[in-house]
Amino acid sequence: MIARISNEEQHYDTKTFDEYLHDRWNSDSQDVTIHIENCPQCQRRIENMVNDNWA
Ligand SMILES: [Zn+2]
Repeated sequence: MIARISNEEQHYDTKTFDEYLHDRWNSDSQDVTIHIENCPQCQRRIENMVNDNWA
């Protein structure tokens, strides 16, 4: 179950994570990384995406 997102604007969307996971983000990836490190909700979303893509 994905945690509810109350402040959706502050999170990155699935498309961004997909590109991030595929290394399409170079110049801006640090911002994404910093957000993920500080956001348990997005950490779970990333984990779910990784499991779906590479399970
Ligand atoms: Zn987030």
